Amino acid sequence: MKTLLKKYTVREIVDGFVYNEFEGKGVFGLSGKLTIQPEYQRNYIYADGKKDVAVIESLLKGYPLGLIYFNDVDDEHFEVLDGQQRITSVGRFTTGKFAVKDENGREQLFSSLPIDKQTEIMNSELLIYHCKGEESEIKEWFKTINIAGVPLNEQELLNAIYSGPFVTFAKAEFSNSRNSNIQKWSAYVSGSANRQEFLATALAWIAASKGLDAENYMAAHRYYDNIDELKVYFNSVIDWISGVFRNVEREMCGLEWGRLYETYHSRAYDPAKVSEALRRLYGDVYVKNRKGVFEYILGGEKDTKLLDVRVFDDATKKTVYIQQTDKAKADGISNCPLCAIGHDANKSKIWEQKDMDADHVAAWSRDGATDIANCQMLCKSHNRAKELLNNNLTVYSWRDTIIP
Ligand SMILES: [Zn+2]
Repeated sequence: MKTLLKKYTVREIVDGFVYNEFEGKGVFGLSGKLTIQPEYQRNYIYADGKKDVAVIESLLKGYPLGLIYFNDVDDEHFEVLDGQQRITSVGRFTTGKFAVKDENGREQLFSSLPIDKQTEIMNSELLIYHCKGEESEIKEWFKTINIAGVPLNEQELLNAIYSGPFVTFAKAEFSNSRNSNIQKWSAYVSGSANRQEFLATALAWIAASKGLDAENYMAAHRYYDNIDELKVYFNSVIDWISGVFRNVEREMCGLEWGRLYETYHSRAYDPAKVSEALRRLYGDVYVKNRKGVFEYILGGEKDTKLLDVRVFDDATKKTVYIQQTDKAKADGISNCPLCAIGHDANKSKIWEQKDMDADHVAAWSRDGATDIANCQMLCKSHNRAKELLNNNLTVYSWRDTIIP
């Protein structure tokens, strides 16, 4: 790879600057010779009133903006390899897209700055490294550079590596913060369009449905000139979620909806009943993991492990153990109510507390509460057996068997 260091003024760089408000990216500069955001670049993420302002403040104080790298496509055409965020900030400022505070704390647009300040900015020099090399070389190198303190995330890297028509179309759909669907997606998918997180999710879902990972999928579709399959699948998942769950809850955001869709979408659900179940479980103080409620409902309310149901505390267990053991001793039977009704040697065995576990007399899944009235101690093997039988076991209680 050949490199050449050059100096440009801000005036030269922002000549012919075009900012695409719709896609949130700086497009051209340097009298049209410079492509500011080539396909493999990430979206502009400096427009937060801090990072973009900091770039302008640096210029006003005469601080250098750091090295910027161009990839020379040919002698007349360059692409920004590193420095897109800084160049776009400068271009947006000089075209009046945002203001900075002056020394008196007043907001100033470029056009309202004193002429000498405007000239100072326009005459500021930027150091540019021109790089010329094979596409693969440039991309490999781009992978290793860190842009202005915000490292590329995984999806931004993949977009760079597999740039082509597929990524272009995919970004137009999933990485475009003006897409009116984003609000709906945000209920179920976490992250932001700008940082490619919707795209990453869409790719992960379709790839997983085919037993691939996102990178394989992107590689296989790199030169496709449409994203129909990706879009249809993503929308199917979103439509399925909003069809099954009428409510939108905070905990729904970022769940593994792709996997849930694959597992459950062929089952029929009554949205009114689902809604009812959701309300009931959200109102249940024993449910510790609300994120698990959705899969619990989808699976027919069987797998209580998903809910992380609150367990009995130590004081409750101790109290119940003592009461149960005192009664059992008086009656000459085992303090495990299930051993007590058996026919083997354990029939009259008094277990130590460490060899017993607390059990919900009425299973939690049958509305049994996690309080002392619903607690009994069972020997470990009976407790395990009851757990295995889950909800299908007859409800035994030491109160039924021991207390007359
Ligand atoms: Zn037992």
